[in-house]
Amino acid sequence: MRKGIAVSPGVVVGTAYCIQEIFVPTDTPRLNADETVAEVAKFEVAQQKVATELRALREKVTLQVGCKEGAIFATHEAILNDPSFTNNVLERIQRQRSSAQAALHAFLMEYTASFSNKSSHDSFIRERLADVRDVIVRLSAHLSKILNCEDGPAIEGPLVVVADELLPSQAVALGNADVAAIVTQTGSRTSHAAIIARSRGIPAVCGVANILKQLHTGDAVVVDGSQGHVIISPDAETDKAYRKLEREFFLLRDELAENRDQPATTKDNAPLSLLANINNVDDTRAAVAMGASGVGLFRTEYLYLTHPSVPDEEEQLAIYRDVIDNSPNRSVTIRTLDIGGDKTVPYLGHRHQESNPFMGWRSIRLSFEHPELFTTQLRAIMRAAGYASEIGGEVSVMFPMVTTLEELHRVKRMVRRTTAELVERQHQHKVPRIGMMLEVPAAAVMIDSLLPVVDFVSIGSNDLVQYLMAADRDNPKVSHLCQPLAPAVLRLLSSVIRVCRQEGTPVTLCGEMAGQPRAFLVLLGMGLTSFSMSPAFVPSIKRLASLVTVDQARSIFHRASELRTTTNVNRFLHAELNRIAPDLAALELA
Ligand code: PEP
Ligand code: MG
Repeated sequence: MRKGIAVSPGVVVGTAYCIQEIFVPTDTPRLNADETVAEVAKFEVAQQKVATELRALREKVTLQVGCKEGAIFATHEAILNDPSFTNNVLERIQRQRSSAQAALHAFLMEYTASFSNKSSHDSFIRERLADVRDVIVRLSAHLSKILNCEDGPAIEGPLVVVADELLPSQAVALGNADVAAIVTQTGSRTSHAAIIARSRGIPAVCGVANILKQLHTGDAVVVDGSQGHVIISPDAETDKAYRKLEREFFLLRDELAENRDQPATTKDNAPLSLLANINNVDDTRAAVAMGASGVGLFRTEYLYLTHPSVPDEEEQLAIYRDVIDNSPNRSVTIRTLDIGGDKTVPYLGHRHQESNPFMGWRSIRLSFEHPELFTTQLRAIMRAAGYASEIGGEVSVMFPMVTTLEELHRVKRMVRRTTAELVERQHQHKVPRIGMMLEVPAAAVMIDSLLPVVDFVSIGSNDLVQYLMAADRDNPKVSHLCQPLAPAVLRLLSSVIRVCRQEGTPVTLCGEMAGQPRAFLVLLGMGLTSFSMSPAFVPSIKRLASLVTVDQARSIFHRASELRTTTNVNRFLHAELNRIAPDLAALELA
């Protein structure tokens, strides 16, 4: 058994499908001699598709971001069409009978190795390597069997995808394949692979170091996403025991989902708002099926991360309208682009690796420096808001990683300018409610001076916790510190929630802790009444809410706030949860 970080609950007994970073199965067999012609043709088709993609990217990025950024894709096109690259790959397919994906992978390994004795601090070499890697990732995505579902991997049983880490585009693409569970070597509870696994209700374990060395495609494997366990080739007894857990888990989940049409209230009938975090329109359907009452966080960066080029205003508007049409109550809070940190796109300056990406150029900071890109998104959001209000729904907009009052003033100026543009262009639109995400401790400290400028606050606890605890949310080595139930976090959250309530500013929490039963109890006790979470967690939180009174939750919070260590808070809340709703413990992450 290997232990990792439990990131998405549930148990699956399945078959491993091991993929490298760029979607190459780790153990691909050699082709038969008569298969090489078809493989060459497959490679050439992928090459043509990537060429079209790159051309569109170059044009759109040049228009929306700038010439310098657009030029990156001219470099990528040059690499794609470089005869020495193409010949090298073709030769590997024809002479060595490698699959196209394996040939690309081998090329990348060899290319990287050829630079290994040169200074890795040489930024030209680093960038060149990153460019080659980007082109290969693009080609590989087109060749991937997982991406092309009709040509799915020929292995039996529920598919357990095992990878180092999934790129956002890969993780989203996996949603279309029949993936039963995910295991990654890196990542953490708040990395995008984990977030996507949870929004799909797929059990997942992250941070299992070197698992790709022990596990091979076709091996039987058990994934316990609640405990963070991965069991390789289980014996008959273990297999039987976990199959029973698997059945119980799915039964409980289905049973809970039956409360989808019931209102969310506490035991003493205090109304609550249980909203969904979504990444795309598919997630809105999960939000409806699970009984959320609206979308509290639409992470729009996935639009950019998964779009073959940059989504323009009309494309964004169409997606937002689709999301609004399919969301519960047609109520959607759209977050502007939150790129940087662990989510990067080459055309936004992320080729120059920052040494501290989470503390660096991300989110609103980056949007300010790409005003054309930013206002394009604002226009699309405001037009979507106009559409929503016409059909009886509502769109709100919120800005990630706000740190200072000056930033909020700047945002408001941009909204005013964008409004004037839309009036001039005679586009139907509406100025939505404007909110800030509270994820930086400096903003939490100054919350009283920020509130007058915003209509609502949404606490991004994933980031707030990492910044407060100075512990990277994606680094398994410091995950013991990056804890939402740490006493320091509880103290800060309760103070922010108190100030918002005093000032009458609506406040929601949309970090992952909102969907965790233990954390829910304590947040409810702080006076929070609006929670946004992965859709899969809505039914269990609705059930838990119905079993607890506001006074009970208040008393739980007061007792928790007297504890001085995270371990004691966890232990105490675990015991309380077991007392109130013992069956929900199965949905908790260890
Ligand atoms: C957060 O930081 O809590 C949040 C909701 O945003 P993200 O996880 O996308 O950074
Ligand atoms: Mg965040």
